[in-house]
Amino acid sequence: MNFQPVRLDSLVSDVVARIRLRHPELEVSVQLDEPLSPILADPQRLAQVFENLLSNAVKYAPGSPVSIKITPDAGGVHLAFADRGPGIPEKYRQKIFERFFRVPDIQPSVHGTGLGLYICKQIIQAHYGQIWAESQLGQGTVFHIYLPWKP
Ligand code: ATP
Ligand code: MG
Repeated sequence: MNFQPVRLDSLVSDVVARIRLRHPELEVSVQLDEPLSPILADPQRLAQVFENLLSNAVKYAPGSPVSIKITPDAGGVHLAFADRGPGIPEKYRQKIFERFFRVPDIQPSVHGTGLGLYICKQIIQAHYGQIWAESQLGQGTVFHIYLPWKP
């Protein structure tokens, strides 16, 4: 890990811009209500996390807008990536972070290796942060990330 001061809002915007080159149809809104101090993090690794989450939204929630909310607090920064896709059944809510796990039978035609979220979890844990999913079947999925100001 190559830790350095990172402006999370600019990093998120960079990743969104990059993903929209490939998926110009993707609607993304970024909400940040307070000024954000830099966090100490590895910008390349975090960009990989955001890219995985956005490319999952493109794959599994096609046509859905994605909203990204960034909320700082005393201990760190909370990011929420929300889509309005099909959601994830409760029994798989934690398994999706395991290596090679893909939700069975849901979108058999969507390609993937089941590694994206596993890699996200490794990267977030290397920052001493947390990543988890919240979902309502048929309503959508929210991926939450919490990153401390300093790892
Ligand atoms: P890879 O990312 O390695 O190309 P993948 O997308 O299948 O493959 P993960 O990113 O780890 O792997 O996601 C694991 C599984 O979680 C997916 O196969 C899919 O079933 C489910 N999933 C991930 N993101 C979403 C989402 N936004 N909505 C619904 N299901 C999702
Ligand atoms: Mg993926």
